[in-house]
Amino acid sequence: MLFDTHVHLNIDQFEGEVEDTINRAKSEGVEWMTVVGFDRETIPKAMELAETYDFIYAAVGWHPVDAIDMKEEDLKWLEELAAHPKVVALGEMGLDYHWDKSPKEVQKEVFRKQIHLAKKVNLPIVIHDREAHQDIVDILKEENAAETGGIMHCFGGSLEIAQECLKMNFYISFGGPVTFKNAKKPKEVAKEIPMDRLLVETDSPFLAPHPYRGKRNEPAYVKLVAEKIAELKEISFETLAEQTTANAKKLFRIN
Ligand SMILES: [Zn+2]
Ligand SMILES: [Zn+2]
Repeated sequence: MLFDTHVHLNIDQFEGEVEDTINRAKSEGVEWMTVVGFDRETIPKAMELAETYDFIYAAVGWHPVDAIDMKEEDLKWLEELAAHPKVVALGEMGLDYHWDKSPKEVQKEVFRKQIHLAKKVNLPIVIHDREAHQDIVDILKEENAAETGGIMHCFGGSLEIAQECLKMNFYISFGGPVTFKNAKKPKEVAKEIPMDRLLVETDSPFLAPHPYRGKRNEPAYVKLVAEKIAELKEISFETLAEQTTANAKKLFRIN
């Protein structure tokens, strides 16, 4: 049994194919997933999926790439949604320095506002970090995000950065890149993360694992991610699956 902690079944690439995609995931042992909504279009769809399927949970937040579009009323909306029983985390939120649609200062501001909200509503946070590792750690420290904890999703930073995040009660989640043939760093880092802080995800439809790299990703492939990490840690797939699922349920407070 596996828990895909970060999927976007709520975007166009899965239009009309959600049911089939879920069935393929189920047949690979994916029992639970968290669908992440990150803007005005994808949040309602994440909520709809969480309300339709008992094994689907929702995380809702504002993506850093679109930080410039977030209004005060959107933050209010997130606060309302946070009270929904199927909303298990706020996010994804964070910093993305790869794209320049939203200036860094705006991204930081929107990130901080969402951390404040997470503390207020007492939910863990899902962090999106692209090319912004040190700034993310600095903000998490300054805002005392250890209070909420959460997930470093699709982690791509160094072991030092991971250790800083572990100290602040964060879980480290790995996706497709850990399986890429030329990816040394995520493999080295994944090997060192303590078992009780490790999560797996796909970030579907993005970042499909080997041998599907470049194709549309889907939750069924989280098994490939888990198999790779089990191999790196030299433990059985079953042990890895069981522990990462238990970790996800603990973090999301699912019984
Ligand atoms: Zn992300
Ligand atoms: Zn995502």
